[in-house]
This record gives sequence, structure tokens and C-alpha cells, in this order.
Amino acid sequence: MSADHGSGGAPAHAPEITVVGSLNMDVRLTVDRIPRSGETISATGLKRSPGGKGANQAVAAARLGRRVAMVGAVGDDDAGREITARLVAEGLDVTSVASSEQPTGTAVILWEQPESTIVIEAGANGDVDESFVDSRDSAVRAVTDAQVVLCQCETPLGSLAAVTRLATGTTILNPAPAVPVPAEIRDWFDVLVPNRFELATLAGAGEAPASLADVVAMVRGLAFPGDVVVTLGADGSVVVPRDGLPTPVPAVRVDAIDTTAAGDSFCAALADGLLRGEDLVGAARWAARVAAVTTTRDGAIESLPLAHEVPAALP
Ligand code: ADP
Repeated sequence: MSADHGSGGAPAHAPEITVVGSLNMDVRLTVDRIPRSGETISATGLKRSPGGKGANQAVAAARLGRRVAMVGAVGDDDAGREITARLVAEGLDVTSVASSEQPTGTAVILWEQPESTIVIEAGANGDVDESFVDSRDSAVRAVTDAQVVLCQCETPLGSLAAVTRLATGTTILNPAPAVPVPAEIRDWFDVLVPNRFELATLAGAGEAPASLADVVAMVRGLAFPGDVVVTLGADGSVVVPRDGLPTPVPAVRVDAIDTTAAGDSFCAALADGLLRGEDLVGAARWAARVAAVTTTRDGAIESLPLAHEVPAALP
């Protein structure tokens, strides 16, 4: 864990942001309702596109203008080739995207607008463990040299351990999907960005916190040594700094049509804001604006805005 938000003497073309995470092919079925167990229903639409929290966050950061490296794995199959080509087209450094003997990860998404219910088969993402990172010079360099490293929980937790050991810049963990990340890994990150359900899982609580006071109390209960930003959907987020008072950050009011990738764009924009020299509250305000635009557009990667597409803050 680093104390500051800079990387010192990194090579000139080092990534500003490295994402260690998942690469999936999303198969999204639009449904009027989620079927009951044993029931068959008809979808009203089908969409297939590259996704995964890692890919979404990496592309989100690149669209905000950042130099981004991706560390992950895809299968030696059409889906893997399509995802890699998409990342290249988005300007990402894919040197550390490995080709696996496992099939490309797949997410089946039942989309009941604007929310989704998702089932994931990790496939090649399962390869991305501690030794995967350690055994690749390019991955070690990408993690070591980046000013910010962003991680999620769609790859084995060993990848997170490698990141906390190697990173010299700021490390951000979006503990999604909800996984009880052990404190001995979690506590080495600089910033945690859970939603309220992921926070409850980290805290070992039976229920998600209801009020802002409950959220803050649950964060304090983690005794996490770094900073925490809890995202609260349309209710915005709350920044709980390691030392100092919590600051609620409102969501930007929009007509949300699809909240897919809202959290992913929020995490990427938070990293982008920190790189611009914003403090965590300033970065969370920027992230709220970026995430709000994401919710007004259909899809995951397709919905991520370019920096100039994000409206200026209201005075
Ligand atoms: P996740 O998708 O990881 O569960 P959230 O749903 O908490 O994350 O959303 C992340 C951020 O996206 C929120 O903090 C908020 O700033 C923004 N956001 C989400 N839903 C909406 C919405 N309906 N309107 C405006 N902003 C939203």
C-alpha cells in the first residue's frame, strides 16, 4: 500500500491505470420478468458483447483519456479473439492478456430493465491467480509501474494478493461481485469501493445497511486502514476517509435506462479523478457524473462515456 497517489520514477510509457480483472463475453437476454425455478420464458431481445468487470473498468478509464493496461485471460476461441480485438480498438495495452486453455468467461444476463440478474462461468478468468501475475514480466511491470491499479473479484483472490505486493501506486479494490475478501488481502489496498451489498458481505452482516448512518457504522466496523467509498445506486455514494468525517456525494439526477456498468464506470472515473489530483470527494463527484451518463445508455462497454461526453458540474 502506498501513502500517496503518485508513482515516482515509472517509465515514460508506463500505464497510468492497470486493471487486473475479468474478461467475459456477455450474453444478455431481455426479459419481462425473472423466471421462477423450473420455468421457461421467452426473451424479447438478445445482445452479445464483450464485458466483465475488468474489461468494463479498463475501457471506461481509456475512454476518459487514460493510458490503460489490462492484465487478464481469455480462451483460445472466437469470443476471446473478439474481446481482445475490442480492447485493442479501445486503445488498451493487451500485452498481459493471456490466451488460456479454458474457454473465455461467459456472463448470462437476464435484463429486466433497468436491472440485471447475472450468472457467470469464469472460464479463463480462473487462470488469473497469484502465479499468473508473478510469472509474466509484462504483468509484473504493468502492476508495478502503474499510477493506479484497479481490481475486482471476478478473478481468483490470489491476483489481488499479487497486486498488493507489487504495486507502487494507488491500489483500488471494487469487491464485486460480493465476496468475503479476507482482511489480510483487503487491508493492503488503499481504497475500497463496495456497493452496500458488497459492504455487508465484507462485514459478514446478514443484511445490507439501510441508512447512511448504518453504512458508515458498517464501514467503521471493518477497521479498514485505507479509504472507503460506498456506492448507493441512485442515492449516490458516501466517502468514508481513513481519518476524517464521512462525506455523502449525491447521484446526478438522470433518467436511468440501464444501470449495467454504472459501478464499473464509477470505479474507473474515481481512479481518473485521483490521477487529476482531485481528493477522494472530488474524484467521487466526477465519478458520479460519469456513472450517471452510463446509466442513460444501453449496454455495458457501449454505454461508457468519453470524457467530453460527461456534462460539466452544476455551479
Ligand atoms: P453497482 O453497479 O456496482 O451496484 P451502484 O448501483 O451503487 O453500483 O452505482 C454506482 C454509481 O453509479 C452510484 O454511486 C451513482 O453515482 C451512479 N448511479 C447508479 N444508479 C444511478 C441512477 N439511477 N441515477 C444516477 N446515478 C446512478
